[in-house]
Amino acid sequence: MNKQLQEDLSSLEKIMQLVSRQGLDYLKQIEERHTSVNHEAVPGGRLPEKGLGTIETLQQFNSRLEPLMVAASGPRYWGFVTGGTTPAAIAGDWLTTVYDQNTQTITGDGDISAAIELETVRLLLELLELPDEFLGGFVTGATMSNFTCLAVARQWLGQQDGADIAKEGITQPLPVLTATPHSSSVKSLALLGFGSNHIISVKTMEGNREAMDMSDLETKILQLNGRPFILISSAGTVNTVDFDDFTAIAALKKKYQFWWHIDAAFGGFAILSDAHKQLLQGWEQADSITVDGHKWLNVPYENAVFFIKRRHRLLQVSTFQNSNAPYLGDPLEQFNYLNLLPENSRRLKALPAWFTLNAYGREGYRYIIENSIQLARNFEAFIESCPQLQLLAPVRLNTVCFSLAGAAGDAGKVAAFLSALNKTGEVFMTQTQYKGQAGIRAAFVNFRTTEKDIERVKTSVLRLLTAGT
Ligand SMILES: *Cc1c(COP(=O)(O)O)cnc(C)c1O
Repeated sequence: MNKQLQEDLSSLEKIMQLVSRQGLDYLKQIEERHTSVNHEAVPGGRLPEKGLGTIETLQQFNSRLEPLMVAASGPRYWGFVTGGTTPAAIAGDWLTTVYDQNTQTITGDGDISAAIELETVRLLLELLELPDEFLGGFVTGATMSNFTCLAVARQWLGQQDGADIAKEGITQPLPVLTATPHSSSVKSLALLGFGSNHIISVKTMEGNREAMDMSDLETKILQLNGRPFILISSAGTVNTVDFDDFTAIAALKKKYQFWWHIDAAFGGFAILSDAHKQLLQGWEQADSITVDGHKWLNVPYENAVFFIKRRHRLLQVSTFQNSNAPYLGDPLEQFNYLNLLPENSRRLKALPAWFTLNAYGREGYRYIIENSIQLARNFEAFIESCPQLQLLAPVRLNTVCFSLAGAAGDAGKVAAFLSALNKTGEVFMTQTQYKGQAGIRAAFVNFRTTEKDIERVKTSVLRLLTAGT
Protein backbone atom coordinates (compact mmCIF):
# COMPACT_ATOMS: atom_id res chain seq x y z
CA MET A 1 0.00 0.00 0.00
CA ASN A 2 1.05 3.60 -0.57
CA LYS A 3 2.88 4.94 2.50
CA GLN A 4 0.51 7.83 3.27
CA LEU A 5 -2.55 5.60 2.96
CA GLN A 6 -0.94 3.02 5.21
CA GLU A 7 0.01 5.62 7.81
CA ASP A 8 -3.43 7.19 7.73
CA LEU A 9 -5.12 3.83 8.21
CA SER A 10 -3.02 3.21 11.29
CA SER A 11 -3.75 6.70 12.66
CA LEU A 12 -7.45 6.51 11.96
CA GLU A 13 -8.36 6.87 15.61
CA LYS A 14 -6.33 10.03 15.98
CA ILE A 15 -7.75 11.44 12.74
CA MET A 16 -11.34 10.77 13.78
CA GLN A 17 -10.73 12.32 17.20
CA LEU A 18 -9.14 15.43 15.72
CA VAL A 19 -11.95 15.91 13.24
CA SER A 20 -14.63 15.27 15.81
CA ARG A 21 -12.97 17.73 18.21
CA GLN A 22 -12.75 20.35 15.49
CA GLY A 23 -16.39 19.83 14.52
CA LEU A 24 -17.40 20.23 18.13
CA ASP A 25 -15.33 23.40 18.58
CA TYR A 26 -16.88 24.90 15.48
CA LEU A 27 -20.44 24.07 16.49
CA LYS A 28 -19.86 25.42 19.99
CA GLN A 29 -18.82 28.82 18.68
CA ILE A 30 -21.20 28.99 15.72
CA GLU A 31 -23.33 31.69 17.34
CA GLU A 32 -20.35 34.02 17.47
CA ARG A 33 -18.82 33.05 14.19
CA HIS A 34 -19.15 35.64 11.41
CA THR A 35 -21.89 35.28 8.82
CA SER A 36 -19.64 36.76 6.15
CA VAL A 37 -15.93 36.87 5.34
CA ASN A 38 -13.69 39.09 3.38
CA HIS A 39 -13.04 37.14 0.22
CA GLU A 40 -9.64 38.58 -0.61
CA ALA A 41 -8.00 35.24 0.12
CA VAL A 42 -8.82 33.28 -3.02
CA PRO A 43 -7.66 29.67 -2.67
CA GLY A 44 -4.90 28.62 -5.04
CA GLY A 45 -3.32 25.35 -3.91
CA ARG A 46 -1.25 22.97 -6.06
CA LEU A 47 -1.46 19.19 -6.21
CA PRO A 48 1.34 17.67 -4.10
CA GLU A 49 3.38 14.95 -5.77
CA LYS A 50 3.78 13.12 -2.49
CA GLY A 51 0.70 13.28 -0.30
CA LEU A 52 0.79 15.12 3.03
CA GLY A 53 -1.31 12.64 4.99
CA THR A 54 -4.57 13.62 6.67
CA ILE A 55 -3.19 15.30 9.78
CA GLU A 56 -0.90 17.63 7.86
CA THR A 57 -3.71 18.24 5.33
CA LEU A 58 -6.03 19.19 8.16
CA GLN A 59 -3.46 21.75 9.30
CA GLN A 60 -3.32 23.16 5.77
CA PHE A 61 -7.09 23.37 5.68
CA ASN A 62 -7.14 25.10 9.03
CA SER A 63 -4.55 27.67 8.10
CA ARG A 64 -5.83 28.58 4.63
CA LEU A 65 -9.42 27.48 4.02
CA GLU A 66 -11.14 27.14 7.37
CA PRO A 67 -11.10 30.94 7.89
CA LEU A 68 -13.23 31.25 4.74
CA MET A 69 -16.10 29.32 6.30
CA VAL A 70 -19.10 31.34 7.40
CA ALA A 71 -21.72 30.45 9.99
CA ALA A 72 -24.19 29.34 7.33
CA SER A 73 -25.90 26.96 9.74
CA GLY A 74 -25.76 29.50 12.55
CA PRO A 75 -28.76 31.33 14.02
CA ARG A 76 -28.44 34.63 12.15
CA TYR A 77 -27.91 33.40 8.62
CA TRP A 78 -31.22 34.54 7.17
CA GLY A 79 -30.31 34.71 3.48
CA PHE A 80 -32.02 32.57 0.81
CA VAL A 81 -33.91 29.90 2.78
CA THR A 82 -31.06 28.41 4.75
CA GLY A 83 -31.78 25.68 7.26
CA GLY A 84 -29.59 24.71 10.18
CA THR A 85 -28.27 21.28 11.02
CA THR A 86 -29.73 19.50 14.04
CA PRO A 87 -27.34 17.41 16.17
CA ALA A 88 -29.13 14.23 15.03
CA ALA A 89 -28.89 15.25 11.38
CA ILE A 90 -25.16 15.86 11.74
CA ALA A 91 -24.77 12.43 13.34
CA GLY A 92 -26.71 10.82 10.49
CA ASP A 93 -24.73 12.74 7.90
CA TRP A 94 -21.34 11.75 9.34
CA LEU A 95 -22.42 8.12 9.49
CA THR A 96 -23.65 8.26 5.90
CA THR A 97 -20.07 8.95 4.91
CA VAL A 98 -18.63 6.31 7.19
CA TYR A 99 -20.95 3.55 5.95
CA ASP A 100 -20.77 4.81 2.34
CA GLN A 101 -23.61 2.74 0.89
CA ASN A 102 -24.68 3.05 -2.73
CA THR A 103 -28.42 3.29 -2.30
CA GLN A 104 -30.37 1.50 -5.03
CA THR A 105 -32.31 -1.64 -4.17
CA ILE A 106 -34.22 -3.29 -1.36
CA THR A 107 -33.51 -6.83 -2.53
CA GLY A 108 -30.49 -8.62 -3.88
CA ASP A 109 -27.16 -9.69 -2.54
CA GLY A 110 -25.49 -6.52 -1.46
CA ASP A 111 -26.46 -3.16 -0.12
CA ILE A 112 -30.16 -2.88 0.73
CA SER A 113 -29.96 0.64 2.12
CA ALA A 114 -32.86 1.67 -0.13
CA ALA A 115 -35.06 0.06 2.53
CA ILE A 116 -33.85 2.77 4.95
CA GLU A 117 -34.60 5.41 2.34
CA LEU A 118 -38.12 4.06 1.86
CA GLU A 119 -38.67 3.99 5.62
CA THR A 120 -37.50 7.63 5.82
CA VAL A 121 -39.86 8.60 3.01
CA ARG A 122 -42.71 7.08 5.04
CA LEU A 123 -41.67 9.06 8.13
CA LEU A 124 -41.69 12.25 6.10
CA LEU A 125 -45.09 11.48 4.58
CA GLU A 126 -46.39 11.03 8.13
CA LEU A 127 -44.84 14.29 9.28
CA LEU A 128 -46.38 16.12 6.33
CA GLU A 129 -49.73 14.33 6.67
CA LEU A 130 -49.51 13.02 3.12
CA PRO A 131 -50.92 9.64 2.06
CA ASP A 132 -48.88 6.57 1.29
CA GLU A 133 -50.00 6.87 -2.34
CA PHE A 134 -46.79 8.81 -2.96
CA LEU A 135 -43.54 7.13 -3.90
CA GLY A 136 -40.64 9.24 -2.70
CA GLY A 137 -36.89 9.46 -3.01
CA PHE A 138 -34.00 11.68 -2.03
CA VAL A 139 -32.15 13.98 -4.41
CA THR A 140 -29.64 16.80 -3.91
CA GLY A 141 -32.04 19.71 -3.56
CA ALA A 142 -35.44 21.09 -4.48
CA THR A 143 -34.04 21.98 -7.90
CA MET A 144 -33.42 18.31 -8.66
CA SER A 145 -36.73 17.39 -7.06
CA ASN A 146 -38.56 19.82 -9.36
CA PHE A 147 -36.54 18.40 -12.25
CA THR A 148 -37.48 14.82 -11.35
CA CYS A 149 -41.18 15.59 -10.95
CA LEU A 150 -41.34 17.65 -14.14
CA ALA A 151 -39.51 14.94 -16.08
CA VAL A 152 -42.26 12.46 -15.20
CA ALA A 153 -44.88 15.13 -15.94
CA ARG A 154 -43.31 15.50 -19.39
CA GLN A 155 -43.58 11.75 -19.97
CA TRP A 156 -47.24 11.89 -18.87
CA LEU A 157 -47.94 14.76 -21.26
CA GLY A 158 -46.38 12.79 -24.13
CA GLN A 159 -48.48 9.77 -23.25
CA GLN A 160 -51.66 11.84 -23.63
CA ASP A 161 -50.62 12.37 -27.28
CA GLY A 162 -49.59 8.73 -27.69
CA ALA A 163 -45.89 9.65 -27.63
CA ASP A 164 -42.98 8.32 -25.56
CA ILE A 165 -40.93 11.49 -25.04
CA ALA A 166 -38.09 9.66 -23.28
CA LYS A 167 -37.57 7.74 -26.50
CA GLU A 168 -38.70 10.19 -29.15
CA GLY A 169 -37.84 13.57 -27.65
CA ILE A 170 -40.08 16.64 -27.72
CA THR A 171 -41.43 17.37 -31.19
CA GLN A 172 -43.73 20.32 -30.44
CA PRO A 173 -44.06 22.96 -27.70
CA LEU A 174 -45.69 21.50 -24.59
CA PRO A 175 -48.07 23.61 -22.48
CA VAL A 176 -46.90 24.45 -18.96
CA LEU A 177 -48.95 26.90 -16.87
CA THR A 178 -47.66 28.67 -13.78
CA ALA A 179 -47.89 32.02 -11.97
CA THR A 180 -44.91 32.57 -9.67
CA PRO A 181 -42.63 29.57 -10.17
CA HIS A 182 -39.35 29.27 -8.33
CA SER A 183 -36.42 29.94 -10.67
CA SER A 184 -35.40 26.29 -10.34
CA SER A 185 -38.63 25.14 -12.00
CA VAL A 186 -37.89 27.43 -14.93
CA LYS A 187 -34.36 26.01 -15.04
CA SER A 188 -35.75 22.47 -14.94
CA LEU A 189 -38.08 23.23 -17.84
CA ALA A 190 -35.09 24.56 -19.78
CA LEU A 191 -33.10 21.40 -19.04
CA LEU A 192 -36.00 19.14 -19.95
CA GLY A 193 -36.36 20.64 -23.42
CA PHE A 194 -39.66 22.46 -22.79
CA GLY A 195 -37.94 25.78 -23.48
CA SER A 196 -38.54 28.39 -20.81
CA ASN A 197 -39.98 30.79 -23.45
CA HIS A 198 -42.93 28.45 -23.85
CA ILE A 199 -44.15 28.82 -20.27
CA ILE A 200 -47.73 30.14 -20.21
CA SER A 201 -47.85 32.76 -17.51
CA VAL A 202 -50.95 32.91 -15.31
CA LYS A 203 -51.74 36.26 -13.66
CA THR A 204 -51.33 36.68 -9.93
CA MET A 205 -54.18 37.80 -7.70
CA GLU A 206 -54.78 41.47 -7.07
CA GLY A 207 -53.59 43.13 -3.88
CA ASN A 208 -49.94 42.42 -3.22
CA ARG A 209 -50.27 38.70 -3.91
CA GLU A 210 -48.03 36.19 -5.70
CA ALA A 211 -50.66 33.44 -5.76
CA MET A 212 -52.33 32.43 -8.99
CA ASP A 213 -55.49 34.21 -10.08
CA MET A 214 -57.85 31.25 -10.46
CA SER A 215 -60.11 32.88 -13.00
CA ASP A 216 -57.14 33.75 -15.22
CA LEU A 217 -55.96 30.16 -14.83
CA GLU A 218 -59.26 28.90 -16.13
CA THR A 219 -59.14 31.36 -19.04
CA LYS A 220 -55.67 30.10 -19.97
CA ILE A 221 -56.87 26.49 -19.71
CA LEU A 222 -59.82 27.16 -22.02
CA GLN A 223 -57.44 28.72 -24.55
CA LEU A 224 -55.72 25.34 -24.80
CA ASN A 225 -58.90 23.87 -26.33
CA GLY A 226 -58.83 20.67 -24.36
CA ARG A 227 -55.11 20.02 -24.66
CA PRO A 228 -53.64 18.38 -21.56
CA PHE A 229 -51.02 20.47 -19.76
CA ILE A 230 -48.74 20.72 -16.73
CA LEU A 231 -49.57 23.07 -13.87
CA ILE A 232 -46.74 24.19 -11.59
CA SER A 233 -48.10 25.64 -8.36
CA SER A 234 -46.42 27.10 -5.29
CA ALA A 235 -46.67 26.16 -1.64
CA GLY A 236 -44.65 29.13 -0.55
CA THR A 237 -43.14 31.63 -2.98
CA VAL A 238 -39.68 32.76 -1.94
CA ASN A 239 -40.35 36.48 -1.64
CA THR A 240 -43.60 36.59 0.30
CA VAL A 241 -44.41 32.90 0.96
CA ASP A 242 -47.70 33.04 -0.88
CA PHE A 243 -49.62 29.81 -1.52
CA ASP A 244 -51.75 28.93 -4.51
CA ASP A 245 -55.30 27.82 -3.75
CA PHE A 246 -55.00 24.04 -3.65
CA THR A 247 -58.65 23.33 -2.92
CA ALA A 248 -59.59 25.26 -6.06
CA ILE A 249 -56.89 23.54 -8.13
CA ALA A 250 -58.02 20.14 -6.87
CA ALA A 251 -61.55 21.00 -8.06
CA LEU A 252 -60.18 21.82 -11.53
CA LYS A 253 -58.65 18.32 -11.66
CA LYS A 254 -62.20 17.00 -12.01
CA LYS A 255 -62.84 19.19 -15.08
CA TYR A 256 -59.56 19.26 -16.96
CA GLN A 257 -56.70 16.92 -17.72
CA PHE A 258 -53.43 18.11 -16.29
CA TRP A 259 -50.42 17.07 -14.27
CA TRP A 260 -50.40 18.98 -11.02
CA HIS A 261 -47.02 19.72 -9.50
CA ILE A 262 -46.51 21.59 -6.22
CA ASP A 263 -43.21 23.16 -5.26
CA ALA A 264 -43.45 22.97 -1.46
CA ALA A 265 -39.69 23.19 -0.90
CA PHE A 266 -40.13 24.80 2.50
CA GLY A 267 -43.83 25.78 2.63
CA GLY A 268 -44.92 22.15 3.00
CA PHE A 269 -43.81 22.31 6.63
CA ALA A 270 -46.61 24.80 7.34
CA ILE A 271 -48.71 21.66 7.89
CA LEU A 272 -47.13 21.49 11.36
CA SER A 273 -48.65 24.79 12.41
CA ASP A 274 -52.32 24.61 13.34
CA ALA A 275 -52.77 28.24 12.39
CA HIS A 276 -51.36 27.69 8.88
CA LYS A 277 -52.09 24.11 7.86
CA GLN A 278 -55.21 25.13 5.94
CA LEU A 279 -52.83 26.67 3.36
CA LEU A 280 -52.06 23.10 2.28
CA GLN A 281 -55.60 21.82 2.21
CA GLY A 282 -56.07 19.64 -0.88
CA TRP A 283 -52.35 19.34 -1.67
CA GLU A 284 -52.47 15.56 -1.31
CA GLN A 285 -54.31 15.47 -4.62
CA ALA A 286 -51.28 16.69 -6.56
CA ASP A 287 -49.45 14.32 -8.89
CA SER A 288 -46.06 15.39 -7.60
CA ILE A 289 -44.62 17.45 -4.75
CA THR A 290 -41.16 18.89 -4.04
CA VAL A 291 -39.94 19.17 -0.45
CA ASP A 292 -36.50 20.32 0.64
CA GLY A 293 -34.59 18.66 3.48
CA HIS A 294 -31.81 21.20 3.82
CA LYS A 295 -34.22 24.03 4.59
CA TRP A 296 -36.89 23.65 7.28
CA LEU A 297 -36.05 20.02 8.06
CA ASN A 298 -32.65 21.33 9.20
CA VAL A 299 -30.47 18.60 7.72
CA PRO A 300 -27.15 19.40 6.02
CA TYR A 301 -26.87 20.03 2.28
CA GLU A 302 -27.57 18.20 -0.13
CA ASN A 303 -30.98 16.93 0.77
CA ALA A 304 -34.44 17.07 -0.76
CA VAL A 305 -37.29 14.71 -1.55
CA PHE A 306 -39.64 14.21 -4.47
CA PHE A 307 -43.06 12.68 -3.98
CA ILE A 308 -44.75 11.27 -7.09
CA LYS A 309 -48.02 9.35 -7.04
CA ARG A 310 -47.42 5.61 -7.24
CA ARG A 311 -49.94 5.30 -10.03
CA HIS A 312 -47.39 7.07 -12.26
CA ARG A 313 -44.68 4.49 -11.50
CA LEU A 314 -44.58 3.15 -15.09
CA LEU A 315 -44.15 6.66 -16.45
CA GLN A 316 -41.47 7.32 -13.86
CA VAL A 317 -39.59 4.19 -14.89
CA SER A 318 -39.90 4.96 -18.58
CA THR A 319 -38.44 8.41 -17.85
CA PHE A 320 -35.47 7.31 -15.77
CA GLN A 321 -34.84 3.68 -16.68
CA ASN A 322 -31.27 2.64 -16.95
CA SER A 323 -32.19 -0.55 -18.73
CA ASN A 324 -29.41 -0.54 -21.27
CA ALA A 325 -27.30 -2.10 -18.50
CA PRO A 326 -28.64 -5.68 -18.42
CA TYR A 327 -26.92 -6.59 -15.14
CA LEU A 328 -29.14 -4.10 -13.35
CA GLY A 329 -32.27 -6.18 -13.85
CA ASP A 330 -35.72 -5.51 -15.23
CA PRO A 331 -36.74 -1.98 -14.16
CA LEU A 332 -40.39 -2.94 -13.88
CA GLU A 333 -39.80 -6.06 -11.83
CA GLN A 334 -37.27 -4.82 -9.33
CA PHE A 335 -37.41 -1.76 -7.14
CA ASN A 336 -34.27 0.16 -7.94
CA TYR A 337 -33.85 3.88 -7.34
CA LEU A 338 -31.63 4.24 -10.38
CA ASN A 339 -34.70 3.64 -12.55
CA LEU A 340 -36.72 6.25 -10.68
CA LEU A 341 -34.55 9.37 -10.50
CA PRO A 342 -31.72 11.17 -12.30
CA GLU A 343 -28.65 9.76 -10.55
CA ASN A 344 -27.32 6.24 -10.71
CA SER A 345 -24.83 5.88 -7.84
CA ARG A 346 -26.04 7.73 -4.77
CA ARG A 347 -25.07 8.09 -1.11
CA LEU A 348 -27.61 7.17 1.56
CA LYS A 349 -29.00 10.69 1.58
CA ALA A 350 -31.97 9.66 3.69
CA LEU A 351 -29.94 8.85 6.81
CA PRO A 352 -29.60 12.40 8.21
CA ALA A 353 -33.37 12.83 7.80
CA TRP A 354 -34.00 9.43 9.42
CA PHE A 355 -31.90 10.46 12.42
CA THR A 356 -33.46 13.85 12.90
CA LEU A 357 -37.05 12.66 12.44
CA ASN A 358 -36.53 9.95 15.03
CA ALA A 359 -34.63 12.21 17.39
CA TYR A 360 -37.18 15.03 17.53
CA GLY A 361 -40.42 13.58 16.20
CA ARG A 362 -43.50 15.56 15.30
CA GLU A 363 -43.27 17.64 18.47
CA GLY A 364 -39.71 18.72 17.79
CA TYR A 365 -40.59 19.76 14.27
CA ARG A 366 -43.73 21.54 15.40
CA TYR A 367 -41.49 23.58 17.71
CA ILE A 368 -39.07 24.45 14.89
CA ILE A 369 -41.85 25.57 12.55
CA GLU A 370 -43.85 27.54 15.14
CA ASN A 371 -40.68 29.16 16.47
CA SER A 372 -39.60 30.29 12.99
CA ILE A 373 -43.04 31.74 12.29
CA GLN A 374 -43.06 33.60 15.60
CA LEU A 375 -39.60 35.04 14.97
CA ALA A 376 -40.66 36.25 11.53
CA ARG A 377 -43.61 38.00 13.20
CA ASN A 378 -41.31 39.65 15.72
CA PHE A 379 -38.93 40.85 13.05
CA GLU A 380 -41.89 42.13 11.03
CA ALA A 381 -43.03 44.15 14.06
CA PHE A 382 -39.57 45.70 14.27
CA ILE A 383 -39.60 46.70 10.57
CA GLU A 384 -43.04 48.24 11.04
CA SER A 385 -41.90 50.18 14.07
CA CYS A 386 -38.86 51.61 12.34
CA PRO A 387 -39.60 54.75 10.24
CA GLN A 388 -36.55 54.23 7.99
CA LEU A 389 -37.77 50.78 6.91
CA GLN A 390 -40.85 49.49 5.14
CA LEU A 391 -42.44 46.10 4.58
CA LEU A 392 -42.94 45.14 0.92
CA ALA A 393 -45.55 42.52 1.79
CA PRO A 394 -47.29 41.25 4.91
CA VAL A 395 -45.55 38.32 6.61
CA ARG A 396 -47.51 35.21 5.70
CA LEU A 397 -45.28 32.54 7.20
CA ASN A 398 -41.55 32.66 7.93
CA THR A 399 -40.05 35.27 5.63
CA VAL A 400 -39.88 39.04 5.97
CA CYS A 401 -39.59 40.99 2.72
CA PHE A 402 -38.74 44.63 3.35
CA SER A 403 -36.86 47.63 2.06
CA LEU A 404 -35.58 51.05 2.99
CA ALA A 405 -38.56 53.37 3.39
CA GLY A 406 -39.10 55.41 0.24
CA ALA A 407 -36.06 53.86 -1.47
CA ALA A 408 -37.45 50.60 -2.87
CA GLY A 409 -37.05 52.10 -6.34
CA ASP A 410 -33.35 52.67 -5.75
CA ALA A 411 -31.73 49.24 -6.06
CA GLY A 412 -28.25 50.70 -5.57
CA LYS A 413 -29.13 52.27 -2.26
CA VAL A 414 -30.80 49.11 -0.96
CA ALA A 415 -27.81 47.04 -2.11
CA ALA A 416 -25.37 49.37 -0.34
CA PHE A 417 -27.34 49.16 2.90
CA LEU A 418 -27.59 45.37 2.72
CA SER A 419 -23.93 45.01 1.89
CA ALA A 420 -22.95 47.16 4.88
CA LEU A 421 -25.26 45.14 7.10
CA ASN A 422 -23.90 41.79 5.89
CA LYS A 423 -20.33 43.04 6.32
CA THR A 424 -20.92 43.41 10.05
CA GLY A 425 -20.79 39.60 10.11
CA GLU A 426 -23.64 39.68 12.62
CA VAL A 427 -26.34 38.64 10.17
CA PHE A 428 -26.75 37.60 6.56
CA MET A 429 -29.75 38.46 4.40
CA THR A 430 -30.23 38.45 0.65
CA GLN A 431 -31.47 40.99 -1.83
CA THR A 432 -34.51 40.44 -4.01
CA GLN A 433 -36.79 42.05 -6.55
CA TYR A 434 -40.41 42.09 -5.65
CA LYS A 435 -42.96 43.60 -8.05
CA GLY A 436 -40.32 45.90 -9.48
CA GLN A 437 -39.05 47.02 -6.07
CA ALA A 438 -35.65 46.36 -4.55
CA GLY A 439 -36.14 44.35 -1.41
CA ILE A 440 -34.30 42.47 1.30
CA ARG A 441 -35.37 39.05 2.55
CA ALA A 442 -34.94 37.55 5.99
CA ALA A 443 -36.01 33.89 6.07
CA PHE A 444 -36.42 32.05 9.37
CA VAL A 445 -35.81 28.32 9.11
CA ASN A 446 -33.03 27.51 11.56
CA PHE A 447 -33.91 25.73 14.82
CA ARG A 448 -31.10 27.62 16.60
CA THR A 449 -32.56 31.08 16.07
CA THR A 450 -34.13 32.71 19.14
CA GLU A 451 -35.50 36.04 20.26
CA LYS A 452 -31.97 36.99 21.38
CA ASP A 453 -30.83 36.81 17.76
CA ILE A 454 -33.63 39.11 16.66
CA GLU A 455 -32.51 41.60 19.31
CA ARG A 456 -28.91 41.43 18.11
CA VAL A 457 -29.92 42.04 14.51
CA LYS A 458 -32.17 44.94 15.49
CA THR A 459 -29.20 46.56 17.21
CA SER A 460 -27.00 46.15 14.11
CA VAL A 461 -29.68 47.49 11.79
CA LEU A 462 -30.41 50.51 13.99
CA ARG A 463 -26.72 51.28 14.37
CA LEU A 464 -26.30 51.32 10.59
CA LEU A 465 -29.39 53.42 10.04
CA THR A 466 -28.23 56.04 12.53
CA ALA A 467 -24.80 56.06 10.95
CA GLY A 468 -26.71 57.05 7.80
CA THR A 469 -25.34 54.41 5.45
C1 LIG B 1 -34.93 26.73 -2.35
C2 LIG B 1 -36.05 26.47 -3.27
C3 LIG B 1 -35.88 25.72 -4.44
C4 LIG B 1 -34.53 25.25 -4.92
O1 LIG B 1 -33.99 24.44 -3.97
P1 LIG B 1 -32.49 23.94 -3.87
O2 LIG B 1 -32.60 23.08 -2.69
O3 LIG B 1 -31.65 25.16 -3.69
O4 LIG B 1 -32.16 23.20 -5.11
C5 LIG B 1 -37.00 25.45 -5.18
N1 LIG B 1 -38.21 25.91 -4.83
C6 LIG B 1 -38.41 26.66 -3.73
C7 LIG B 1 -39.78 27.15 -3.40
C8 LIG B 1 -37.34 26.96 -2.90
O5 LIG B 1 -37.53 27.70 -1.80
